[in-house]
Amino acid sequence: MAQVKIDNVSKEYQSGLRAVSEVSLDIRAGEFIVLVGPSGCGKSTLLRMVAGLETVTEGEIGIGDRVMNDVDPADRDIAMVFQNYALYPHMSVRNNMAYGLKNRGMSKADIETRVAEAAAILRLEEYLDRKPKQLSGGQRQRVAMGRAIVREPAAFLFDEPLSNLDAKLRVDMRGEIKQLQKRLGTTSIYVTHDQLEAMTMADRIVVLNGGRVEQIGSPLDVYRNP
Ligand code: ADP
Ligand code: ADP
Repeated sequence: MAQVKIDNVSKEYQSGLRAVSEVSLDIRAGEFIVLVGPSGCGKSTLLRMVAGLETVTEGEIGIGDRVMNDVDPADRDIAMVFQNYALYPHMSVRNNMAYGLKNRGMSKADIETRVAEAAAILRLEEYLDRKPKQLSGGQRQRVAMGRAIVREPAAFLFDEPLSNLDAKLRVDMRGEIKQLQKRLGTTSIYVTHDQLEAMTMADRIVVLNGGRVEQIGSPLDVYRNP
């Protein structure tokens, strides 16, 4: 786990649109931060800058002790979880989880150990040889989590990971992700437009509006002063 430092960061797209304006956030190691706010407020842009999927126009992004502005996404020691899972359809669950580790040149034995540990935590042991299309939505989302966990990253970045699930499953998965994050202690930034999700999962909530931080505090603080 590592601290994530967002220091006076702005993003202006080529179109001239300023999607993020002068955002500063010190995220403590092990903290679960939720970015919330209406569609178009800049949540996804901010998360993608931390991931290295968008360039930073002004300011600095730090993970651990390193300034990341010019570092490749693959070298940032982060793992992202997306709403569409982004699983490889032709690969088994096992290979979906192992893929990123193979690319890093990790030994077969170490990969097997990590995949087995993640599968146990996520209750996926019986499904390792299945393809994604043979799984339920919740199981697919757990595979996507598994792929993130096996990397043992400094930080998890979640981009609306539950928005494709039905209401009941969404509530179940909230609890699962939160418990998992506490158990692993991995610093997390979680984007959602769902206020209830933010309230139930966050250590601290950051409310964005028009690309700026409008409010920041514990769920209770934000709930009491909407
Ligand atoms: P959110 O995730 O809160 O819905 P986004 O970060 O996706 O917000 O978008 C913030 C603003 O930036 C929106 O006005 C959106 O249309 C715009 N935007 C997002 N991506 C791009 C892009 N690649 N080029 C230009 N504008 C973009
Ligand atoms: P999300 O907010 O989950 O990224 P969107 O539908 O807003 O979903 O955006 C989908 C993709 O299109 C993203 O990669 C985003 O950066 C890009 N995008 C969003 N708004 C714009 C825009 N106004 N111009 C160009 N690309 C955009």
